[in-house]
Amino acid sequence: MAVCKGCGDDVEALVSVKVGGKAKKLCEDCADRAREESEVAEASESVVQNMMGFKGRR
Ligand SMILES: [Zn+2]
Repeated sequence: MAVCKGCGDDVEALVSVKVGGKAKKLCEDCADRAREESEVAEASESVVQNMMGFKGRR
């Protein structure tokens, strides 16, 4: 048994996920959420970079 650091639930096994370059051990539910969130963060980061590049060229 292990305790998820995301939701505090007792789970049989923790999954390690990379969030923002750091490995976190979470239950499957939290791991899924963390993965989605990090994908969204990466996507919005590239949008910001594109905007900055666009402005920089003008
Ligand atoms: Zn959890």
